[in-house]
Order: sequence, then C-alpha cells, then structure tokens
Amino acid sequence: MNLSPHFTLAEYTISETAARRGIDNTPREAFVLENLKRMAGVMEEIRALLGCAIIVSSGYRCLDLNTLLGSKGTSAHVVGLATDFIAPGFGQPYDVCRAIVPHVQRLGIDQLIYEHTWIHVGLRAGEPRHQVMTLAPGNSYVVGIVTKGSIAA
Ligand SMILES: [Zn+2]
Repeated sequence: MNLSPHFTLAEYTISETAARRGIDNTPREAFVLENLKRMAGVMEEIRALLGCAIIVSSGYRCLDLNTLLGSKGTSAHVVGLATDFIAPGFGQPYDVCRAIVPHVQRLGIDQLIYEHTWIHVGLRAGEPRHQVMTLAPGNSYVVGIVTKGSIAA
C-alpha cells in the first residue's frame, strides 16, 4: 500500500526488532494511517528538496515496539507522525539537516532532530513548534544543528 507516490506503508512499519520479538507492528487505528499519509506527504516535499531518494529507518512504532526501543510513549512515532531517515544521495545526516532547516516553518515540521547517524522529522496534531535540535549525551537535546564536537560535555 502506498502512503504517497514514493513512500509505502511497508517501509513505514517494517522493523527488525519487531520481527525478532514477534511484535505485529501493523497500525490498527484509522487515525494512525491518516497520520502516516500526512507524514509521507511532508517526506515527499523533503525528497523534492534534497533531490534524491530517502531511506526510512523507522516510521510507525506500536507502543510495544516503541517501549522495546527505549523511546518515550509520547513519541510522535507511536501515532505515525515521525520519520527517522537518511538520504545518502544528498550527503551526511548533518548536511541533510542543514538543508531542511530553512524549510521547517513552510513544511510545518514540529521537530527536526539531528540524531548524528540519522535525521528525525516529527509532525504534531496541534500547532507545530518548529523545533530544531541535536541529540546530546544522556538523551538530552541542544538547540540547533551542531556537530558532536561542539556539544559541551
Ligand atoms: Zn525518531
């Protein structure tokens, strides 16, 4: 099933962890599917912006899978409003983040997070907060897209 011209439900729900633990990561609620379509629509715009293919590493996560991955229950992934991805055809995750930053407001992004080895883009049911952050040690975040070396320990 296609969520948008370039993104499928399969790539948004596939998970090695879920498969290994026997968790069915198929979304059950209709609103999650609607959210995933909205998410894929934004990813189409990011794809066009970058001019290359996007590889989704984590999209929808049912609560069981999300918990197993050590993520908070309030994560946008649980409701189908987040995408973790890379775009090697464009460059490193750092470069990808920097390219998206000027478009965060226009795209209605709630959170753009540079997670070092991937990029997290999150949406929100309410007004987007347009937050741009970098993952820092101890599961904290610093404002902006910054290289690892410039984060104070
Ligand atoms: Zn994420």
